[in-house]
Amino acid sequence: MIELKGLTKIFPTEEGTFTALDHVDITIRDGAIYGIIGMSGAGKSTLVRCINLLERPTEGNVLIDGEDMTALSPKALRQKRRSISMIFQQFNLLMQRTCLSNICFPMEIAGVPAAQAKKRAMELLELVGLPDKADAYPVQLSGGQKQRIAIARALASDPKVLLCDEATSALDPTTTRSILRLIQDINKRLGITVIVITHEMAVVEEICSHVAILDHGKVMETGTVEEVFSNP
Ligand code: ADP
Ligand code: ADP
Repeated sequence: MIELKGLTKIFPTEEGTFTALDHVDITIRDGAIYGIIGMSGAGKSTLVRCINLLERPTEGNVLIDGEDMTALSPKALRQKRRSISMIFQQFNLLMQRTCLSNICFPMEIAGVPAAQAKKRAMELLELVGLPDKADAYPVQLSGGQKQRIAIARALASDPKVLLCDEATSALDPTTTRSILRLIQDINKRLGITVIVITHEMAVVEEICSHVAILDHGKVMETGTVEEVFSNP
């Protein structure tokens, strides 16, 4: 379970300060597909950086399974961060490496023996439906295929949480649906908690069970997708 409690981020600016997140309270249960929706400037990126512990909140706490991340040492934090994997709008694949090598990369960093990493990477390629792309380079792939490789890479560290930051924003509607189905499948089959950060209502409606609406750094509403989006 991920709990954001009174999460506040205030940046210093030339004019004084800017409150990017204002006492955000969100609880994300294990196994959920949780959407966080908001327009540009709502605070989504800042929230992502607080959840994956790249940014320290000014105030409030990030609790993962009851443990307060804001209290951890840098070393413990680095370790904890490995349980949260990310995918991005621009895929962020390494262009000089093959797909297989991209997927092996996080395992290399973690010190997994090469043969074992390669075996796991092949399984992950199978899981994302691209077993024949092991030796291809990212430039040879479509956007949807690149995102599948990025998903495989994200899963290589056996995360508990998959954080999707505008992961389908660069894709056409058909490809978006196929990527969302893959994410849904991964959530069900592997029991990984998914957090979907997006400015697109359709994405949330397609796969999320719960949603929080973020506006000017504040949570306007939280609940099941039916509760929040139903028109009375
Ligand atoms: P979103 O991802 O929803 O577009 P962001 O989290 O990127 O929103 O930004 C929210 C607001 O916080 C924006 O108005 C942005 O300009 C401001 N902001 C983000 N980072 C900083 C920073 N380091 N210093 C000052 N203001 C920032
Ligand atoms: P994204 O495209 O993911 O929303 P942004 O372009 O909002 O990212 O932010 C990229 C980087 O610039 C972040 O590190 C953020 O903290 C910083 N940043 C965003 N807005 C501001 C701002 N108004 N002043 C200073 N830094 C900012």
